[in-house]
Amino acid sequence: MSSFANSSLPDALGHFGPYGGRYVPETLMHPLQELEAEYVRAQQDPEFHKELQYYLRQFCGRPSPLYLAERLTRELGGARVYLKREDLIHTGAHKINNAIGQVLLARRMGKARVIAETGAGQHGVATATVAAMFGLKCVVYMGEVDCQRQSLNVYRMRMLGSEVVSVSAGQKTLKEAINEAMRDWVTNIRDTHYILGTAYGAHPYPLMVRNFQRVIGDEARRQILESEKRLPDLLVACVGGGSNAIGLFYPFLEDDSVKMLGVEAGGEGIIPERHAARFQGGSLGVLQGTRSYILQDENGQIQLTHSVSAGLDYAAVGPEHAWLRDAGRVEYSYATDDQALKAFSTLARLEGIIPALESSHAIAAVMERAPKMGKDQVIIANLSGRGDKDVAQAAAKLGM
Ligand SMILES: *Cc1c(COP(=O)(O)O)cnc(C)c1O
Repeated sequence: MSSFANSSLPDALGHFGPYGGRYVPETLMHPLQELEAEYVRAQQDPEFHKELQYYLRQFCGRPSPLYLAERLTRELGGARVYLKREDLIHTGAHKINNAIGQVLLARRMGKARVIAETGAGQHGVATATVAAMFGLKCVVYMGEVDCQRQSLNVYRMRMLGSEVVSVSAGQKTLKEAINEAMRDWVTNIRDTHYILGTAYGAHPYPLMVRNFQRVIGDEARRQILESEKRLPDLLVACVGGGSNAIGLFYPFLEDDSVKMLGVEAGGEGIIPERHAARFQGGSLGVLQGTRSYILQDENGQIQLTHSVSAGLDYAAVGPEHAWLRDAGRVEYSYATDDQALKAFSTLARLEGIIPALESSHAIAAVMERAPKMGKDQVIIANLSGRGDKDVAQAAAKLGM
């Protein structure tokens, strides 16, 4: 018996211990219940699983490889480092695993229109892609600052036939984009499904998104058992809302020998308003539908956040991560902008792989941990996405 049994969480109301739940205006209760009911039906329907498997394989290109990074391993001189290559999945990040699952649910519910929020634009691109594929109308909300720093993805969404709404309220990043998406959903509930992009928000989203992303960990488990004939010693993933991390971690939670490290955005260091590391200075609160760790001031006002990577630049973290941290099952650290940029160019030069700036946070943590581990030990790092969208920004920062 494992000492850690997480498999019964969340409870029926979406609680992971004191976290999670459903904190939304009355008008959103019904659509969330409708979504939950359809999700439960779909989970029990073999046809749904068949369809999901089909598109993950034939459209997205799964399974993604588990690649031994030989030159990085040699350079670091410690544990053997494997990369789970979500960067090779269609559209270039893990986000499409969840977008495919949710668009299939939207179709089952007879919705003709989907909406999404996006930070770095990867979830927007994934949603625009699956909407095009099924001929659904699609609107993506994106903060004005993010539209500027990730303009490549704005063009991609438009090419795919989606409308991109640039949100100029507040800090003009992910939080405001989510507000606008929720406002749209309230207004257009009858024909619209909200494809939320991370393991966050009101129940059933954190549960549902985790289950759509666990394909990452399920595959990685099979693949490492095949190549190393044993389980890994350490899993590493970056944590924005937390979907790529929980997707990798979840299938290993009951394997006590497997340690896990989630890496948040340390920005310019742990100074208020200059980072997005919720477990460094965050506190319990409610934001955008759920209860979790949040960066807020003493009056409960949400603090400004900063990260070089748009996809990690958010004031709250998924409720399951808050629970896993309390339970001591997963350790959470952070990487600064500078450390992430260094990891970005290191991976590019040593392995021929340009990682997303988000994923570079996980690589930065690997660069710190691997040298302290034995040569017989094994790390799996989630390479959540590719860095094409980030090259202009990185070139400017690196003075190239
Ligand atoms: C969106 C994104 C993230 C952060 O989101 P999570 O839900 O925490 O995974 C990380 N990496 C990439 C490449 C992304 O696009």
